Amino acid sequence: MDLNIITLGITNTYIIKGKNGYVMVDAGELGRVKSFVKQARNLAIDPKKINLIIITHAHFDHIGSLADIKEICGCPVLIHPHEADILARGEVVIPPGTNPAGRMISGIGKGFKFLFRFKPVSAELRCEGEFDLRPYGVEGKVIPTPGHTPGSLSVVLDDGRAMVGDLAMNFPLTWTNYPIFAELPDEVYKSWQKIRGEGVETVYPAHGPCFAADNLIG
Ligand SMILES: [Zn+2]
Ligand SMILES: [Zn+2]
Repeated sequence: MDLNIITLGITNTYIIKGKNGYVMVDAGELGRVKSFVKQARNLAIDPKKINLIIITHAHFDHIGSLADIKEICGCPVLIHPHEADILARGEVVIPPGTNPAGRMISGIGKGFKFLFRFKPVSAELRCEGEFDLRPYGVEGKVIPTPGHTPGSLSVVLDDGRAMVGDLAMNFPLTWTNYPIFAELPDEVYKSWQKIRGEGVETVYPAHGPCFAADNLIG
């Protein structure tokens, strides 16, 4: 399965090529729809062939351009029920930091919420347990991986690759893939174990390049 990356602002979005179209993971920052269309064209991806958009969680940098991208693709959105409510309300959530840098950014962000406003979207599909992607032509599934947020989801492909949203981050010059923001810090490690238990070998985070799943320890 081809895995294409389209970077929208600070966020990697992923477009998985299935048997009869594509499945997209996350929708990037606000105001990136033109960039999405251009990058999709360069990759020879017809947005109308995207049959599902999976949202890993309802933070502004993952749903900012969702309303516009969804309209272009004309497809349903899948999200965890907890995050679906935030998405439908258009609520800007700034998560707490897990280290001094994260706490500082979180504190500043709370004062500038108006900058992160996005168009609300009502998602057609909810994922609370596992969601099989085979009906969408993709050999893989969506599983709950709480920690960064209570309703965070990951997309696990049968071939050992996983898109984990912000369950893990991969910034240069940092020694850990632990997310710098988390609402449920202890759950992060449990979800890391869950990802490894699924036989994942390569992790594709929303921020930074892919890395070996062996790094998910602690
Ligand atoms: Zn996030
Ligand atoms: Zn993020």
